[in-house]
Amino acid sequence: MPQKIAAGNWKMNGTQASLSEIQAIAEAAQESPCATILCPPAHLLHRAASLAGPLAIGGQNCHHAPSGAFTGDISAAQLADCGASYVILGHSERREGYGESDSLVRAKAQAALQSGLTPIICLGESQEQRAAGQALEVVLAQLSGSLPDDARVIIAYEPIWAIGTGLVPTVAEITEVHDALRAQLHAIFGAAGQEISILYGGSVKPSNAQEIFAITHVNGALVGGASLKAEDFLPIMRSLAES
Ligand code: PEP
Repeated sequence: MPQKIAAGNWKMNGTQASLSEIQAIAEAAQESPCATILCPPAHLLHRAASLAGPLAIGGQNCHHAPSGAFTGDISAAQLADCGASYVILGHSERREGYGESDSLVRAKAQAALQSGLTPIICLGESQEQRAAGQALEVVLAQLSGSLPDDARVIIAYEPIWAIGTGLVPTVAEITEVHDALRAQLHAIFGAAGQEISILYGGSVKPSNAQEIFAITHVNGALVGGASLKAEDFLPIMRSLAES
């Protein structure tokens, strides 16, 4: 059975003053039967990891090279050095804003695995692609192009049009994509593909988490806005535990 995972992506939000939120999420993670991962901005990683306990910490991006002249970047080994054990890769904000291709995401995922990090690989179609009936084709192509050789990954299906908008796909739409992702992971990795957690992301809130977690092959969520405050994230963690 894939592990159930509640993951939070803080993006470029949070300061030292936010460590109290991480502390509250870490305390709740101690009680949870599910895995909890929080991906704060890079400057908080080290302090977050030192107070996290059973809460795992992740980065939000890494460079594909182990070190070198890449001003402003961070390597997978450096994330691990801060205490991270996961890294989000291929988020649509990086694919769209920084032109990250599937092959670059794949190279980053390989680098992450080499440094002992588990990559959380994000996939998702735009509103135009969904309207044109291309959602499945786009997401499955991103999956094959972005996957490393190893099944030690987490997949996050995040339709771009649902991120930060309050719009959420229907249960049927999420089901269709997650079923297809599971089938493709099985085809690529065999039995190991059945164990990979597939998260849904895009406007997950305490009010819709229960319905989303009831969907077959939804093994948790990658949560942006609602992970910033423990009072929003904890009910999502609870809904996952009860699903
Ligand atoms: C995200 O950016 O990964 C995300 C899912 O954001 P939100 O939950 O705010 O839609």
